[in-house]
Amino acid sequence: MHGPSRIRFEVEKPLGKLAKWLRLLGFDASYQGDADWRKEKDAEFPRIRLTRSQKTLRNETAGAFILIESDHYLKQLRQVINATGIPLSNLHPFSRCLRCNVPIRTTTKDSVRARVPDYVWHSQNEFTVCPRCGRIYWPGTHAERGRQVIQELFGTDKNLGVKNHDKFEKR
Ligand SMILES: [Zn+2]
Repeated sequence: MHGPSRIRFEVEKPLGKLAKWLRLLGFDASYQGDADWRKEKDAEFPRIRLTRSQKTLRNETAGAFILIESDHYLKQLRQVINATGIPLSNLHPFSRCLRCNVPIRTTTKDSVRARVPDYVWHSQNEFTVCPRCGRIYWPGTHAERGRQVIQELFGTDKNLGVKNHDKFEKR
């Protein structure tokens, strides 16, 4: 199946903010600034390269790419979504670690007791954790901005089944 939900990206420098927003929307977005950049290869589902460089395009002999035009992440996101035809139904917001690009997992409230601030533990009931870096996520103000961006991109924030999650790191 080659549905839009299988769309994956490899994002060149200096598009780190775009990569994070793609992750926030739920997409697999490998970033050039990360240690594991392009290590993983999947011939069946090749990544779409996002670049700001004309030079990169001339040097590439194969593969899909999008030459990002704007310096602003929201316009960049809009260009990617327009170019790929990603529908709202293919988004899985707040399902991926913004740092590691791996899917996060639900975890129990008890298990994060010592790892989040008291006020968070007492006020929140839903927590997720990154299996790679251990970062803990919970609903918060960061998710509000995420909702706003989705609304700006797609004209709606309804029927997303979104679980809002803020980012937070503490060891
Ligand atoms: Zn992580």
